[in-house]
Amino acid sequence: MKIADRVNILTPSLTLAISAKAKAMKAEGIDICSFSAGEPDFDTPVHIRDAAKLALDQGKTRYGPTAGEPQLREAIAQKFQRDSGLNYQPTNVIVTNGGKHSIFNLVLALVNPGDEVIIPAPYWVSYPEMVKIAGGKPVIVPTTEETGYKITPAQLRSAITEKTKLFVMNSPSNPTGMVYSLSELEELAAIIVEKDILVVSDEIYEKIVYDDTKHFSIASLNPEIYRRTLISNGFAKAYAMTGWRVGYLVGAEEIIKACNLIQDHATSNVCTFAQYGAIAALNSDQSCVEVMRQSFAERRAIIYDLINAIPGISCCQPQGAFYMFVNISQTGLNSLDFCNGLLQTQQVAVIPGIAFGDDHHIRISYATDLPTIEKGMARLASFVQSL
Ligand code: PLP
Repeated sequence: MKIADRVNILTPSLTLAISAKAKAMKAEGIDICSFSAGEPDFDTPVHIRDAAKLALDQGKTRYGPTAGEPQLREAIAQKFQRDSGLNYQPTNVIVTNGGKHSIFNLVLALVNPGDEVIIPAPYWVSYPEMVKIAGGKPVIVPTTEETGYKITPAQLRSAITEKTKLFVMNSPSNPTGMVYSLSELEELAAIIVEKDILVVSDEIYEKIVYDDTKHFSIASLNPEIYRRTLISNGFAKAYAMTGWRVGYLVGAEEIIKACNLIQDHATSNVCTFAQYGAIAALNSDQSCVEVMRQSFAERRAIIYDLINAIPGISCCQPQGAFYMFVNISQTGLNSLDFCNGLLQTQQVAVIPGIAFGDDHHIRISYATDLPTIEKGMARLASFVQSL
């Protein structure tokens, strides 16, 4: 059997592979501390589950419109008005099978073979692969700890060519936790507008920010950047709804229509009763989001101290999301060898930075309980000491 070339050029998702390995080891009864999954450890809040159960009982079990239930598209449009002062109509919204699917649709809708897509590294694992599936060229722009893992305006400017179609932004970031400030966004937006390219802003961690950090959507800066921005978001992280597979994309109607056409022939609508859970998530009291955020904040403070107390590794304080991006360069190991060694000898699962385009770091998700964090970081310390 001959598999298509578009599959052979793909890099398997190391995050999914390591999470699966850790789960399998756990199932065998091995005492694993897993920091690999990018998912909140909380259950979906009760009122959201209840809304989906009710929808099931009310017979919301049939095909619906590809772009989503009208009530959900409306609720999403209202959310942007409420949270970011952004004016979208339901026709600017498509509901997708998670945030991942919304970016996938978008890349398929925009990128022609040979088109370039600018992706700052460290990046979320799937961005370059999606571009490759579409036949496009991922243009990876490395960033460093010194710039807080942020692309600088000069870097963006010099990465743009005649072939650039799209710039991918992710703030708060997976894997670094960095968050662009308003003034940084303004500088990037000016270049995007001047060079007349499009930007997709992946805002899936927008609700998970710490201290005085504020999340701003680049689309909200001015009408010119608004016209060139697509925003991807979803329910997975803010509402602990990873398995529900509900996300969305908003932006220019013409592009949303193109995504709709692709989705018509791929997945059709997102699970109908799951969308009713999503409606309840957006239209109900938001205190559940804050309760989970506070919990992440508490864990962040503890894990930050524990990691930085280990001689030979270090990390910056992330401003958002729920990941520590830990510098392991002093250990002399590449990130994959480090992670394999840590899993084999200490039964601690973390993700090698190479998955995100940076071989000098590992990613530790702290969306897990405090006893696991304490035990896991003690094991990490033993591992580093043993090197
Ligand atoms: N974008 C980023 C940066 C992510 O970390 C994730 C999930 O890990 C997603 C998008 C996709 O989320 P989902 O498809 O579960 O909504």
